[in-house]
Amino acid sequence: MKRREFLKKAGVGAAAAGAVAAPAIVKAQPTISWRLASSFPKSLDTIFGAGEYAAKLVNEMSGGKFTIRVFAGGEIVPGLQVLDAVQNGTVEIGHTAPYYYVGKDPTWAFGTAIPFGLNARQYNAWWYFASGDKLFNEFSEANGVVSLLAGNTGAQMGGWFRKEIKSLADLQGVKMRIGGWGGQIMAKLGAVPQQIAGGEIYQALERGTIDAAEWVGPYDDEKLGFNKVAKFYYYPGWWEGGPALHLQVNKKSWEGLPKDYQAMLTAAAHGANEYMMAKYDAQNPAALRRLVASGTQLRAFPREMMEAAFKAANDLYAETAAKNAPFKKIYESYIAFRNDSITWMRVTENTFDDFMATVKK
Ligand code: CA
Repeated sequence: MKRREFLKKAGVGAAAAGAVAAPAIVKAQPTISWRLASSFPKSLDTIFGAGEYAAKLVNEMSGGKFTIRVFAGGEIVPGLQVLDAVQNGTVEIGHTAPYYYVGKDPTWAFGTAIPFGLNARQYNAWWYFASGDKLFNEFSEANGVVSLLAGNTGAQMGGWFRKEIKSLADLQGVKMRIGGWGGQIMAKLGAVPQQIAGGEIYQALERGTIDAAEWVGPYDDEKLGFNKVAKFYYYPGWWEGGPALHLQVNKKSWEGLPKDYQAMLTAAAHGANEYMMAKYDAQNPAALRRLVASGTQLRAFPREMMEAAFKAANDLYAETAAKNAPFKKIYESYIAFRNDSITWMRVTENTFDDFMATVKK
């Protein structure tokens, strides 16, 4: 259709002409400049990049009136203190993994992942359509922030091991770099969890100070060179089946935004969520191929270890829910959704994927 015909049919010509004739009714957009503190280093280009992508979208959607400058972890505040910086107004917005703050309250875990929790697609479905957003934001807002879902790594890998783990017995005394609840559960299984910053893992593995380490997945792990110091690459990362990231906005800053800027930021968060998962899905296959070609041996965690971990996780959730009402409320919604979704996904999605993975192509 020619442009003139389209404009005539849609009645756009008349509306546009009216807008030009009466510019006084157009409300001026305020100029707003925010700082975004990311929890992540620039070297994690896919995760850090999701925050940058959201900021770029807002800048462009607002015609440069609403600008967000992005700072890497450590530039304004340390990566693990982004929530604090947003809460106290040091920055208006952060891009972070809310489970970093489980020490303040374990309920924050539902902003990222709990062991044996939701995968990325399930998280999106729960967040957007099954009360996730509503429930988590009740909790977030009570703590002074608004949380906008903005990224996911997809299921992570189980990490790098110097020796093979063929049974639960092989895990006894294994010193593994793994944080959070995954680490607590590993401890219940007999391993010895270690807290080590990303930049120091390689050296610790090389020197044998630790026996194993988890990080993210093939694309990010390859950049840190773990394949040169540990031979066995395990899957799946059952503690991070679909860890989500959020843009967390200071509640007062959010409430002070005009509605159109709130809509831009919401749309930018949706965009970042899609961007990050798609970028990992595009980059991980080739990275995994390169790792295997370099001699990395892929191994699945033994089923008895997974089952013991699953039991330990459920015990931990029952204990936590018994003493934390906000945790219990979100946990019940999250787990009910997980169980329903698994029943549906296995019918056709999983059988399709399984067939495609095993058929000769
Ligand atoms: Ca990880």
